[in-house]
Amino acid sequence: MPPAIQLTQELVRFETINPPGNETPCARHLGGILEAAGFKTRYIPLGANRDNLIAWTGGNASGLPLCFSGHTDVVPLGTAPWTAAPFGGDIADGKIYGRGSSDMKSGVAAFVSACVTLAPRLEGTRGVVLVISAGEERGCEGANLLARQGALPKTGAIVVAEPTANQPLAGHKGVFWLEGTARGVTAHGSMPEQGENAVYKAARAALALEAFDFSEDAHPVLGRPTVNVGWMRGGLNVNSVPDEARLGMDVRLVPGVDRERLIERFRQAAGGAVAFEVLATSDAVWTDPGDPWVQDVMSAVQSVTGAAPKIGGASYFTDAAALKPAMGNPPAIILGPGEPSMAHQTDEWCSIDRIEEAEAIFSELIVRWCGL
Ligand SMILES: [Zn+2]
Repeated sequence: MPPAIQLTQELVRFETINPPGNETPCARHLGGILEAAGFKTRYIPLGANRDNLIAWTGGNASGLPLCFSGHTDVVPLGTAPWTAAPFGGDIADGKIYGRGSSDMKSGVAAFVSACVTLAPRLEGTRGVVLVISAGEERGCEGANLLARQGALPKTGAIVVAEPTANQPLAGHKGVFWLEGTARGVTAHGSMPEQGENAVYKAARAALALEAFDFSEDAHPVLGRPTVNVGWMRGGLNVNSVPDEARLGMDVRLVPGVDRERLIERFRQAAGGAVAFEVLATSDAVWTDPGDPWVQDVMSAVQSVTGAAPKIGGASYFTDAAALKPAMGNPPAIILGPGEPSMAHQTDEWCSIDRIEEAEAIFSELIVRWCGL
């Protein structure tokens, strides 16, 4: 069994559902493998039994290291029953099954295997640094902590090994979570004409958001922003006119959108009847596809897969949002062996051919970066 495949199986067998995470045994397993290969390691806890791992080797004065990033936590299994054992890491039909097989223990296994194989040659080169985070699935908590603590070194380029089926993505959308509140006037439910129904205002706002026109905001690769009304609450009892209703919105932004102006546009779309408050936000991430290192990544992918890749972008967010600014704003690429369509799915799987392909691409990137 090739080491990257076997390592993917081992990682899937650590139960790291977040919440609560319990990533430490998985992180320590990876740390042990890397230490045995000559890497230095540092564990920084996000909470009890929730280690982040930073590992590095090589390094010289001629330039910055190449960074690989991944997370060890996985999402819950969902309510639908699984056919495969979710923490079995079993192989069938050329696929490894299990929660996290695609998102993203295969990606971590692929870059750790590539690094372990090349480690003896990395001494005295620009080197590599691995950032293996906990708590990514609930808002990049681990990577944000590392950034806040100043624990992240400057790096020359970042590969985030999230599931892309080995297609390079030059960035992803940002997150902008809002809560809208509509207010009305309460009255007896038998005399609705004497009140002002806040639920109707919120409902009209939700429909206006569904139809919201983002065409002026479109990004050439990431496309348009999106909005999803994820929840709505309003009213207390059936025989009163509700005087308050709220809605929670998940907006996914592309670079260049002015958030304050967007709130004003939402307010107008909702007929001025809803006030919006920001719950959370994180920036979109984008690297110019013309960047020389991105071109290098494209040629490494082509040399391994035999096909010319087309640069893309992701709608979901990644640790790159925290790492890129904290590590000196280097070019960042999202590229990993997992199937994007399998992330968070029942009976999640990852193709074993893709894992070997990813390991070969990552090795090629290290060889080029470190001049091996
Ligand atoms: Zn992920």
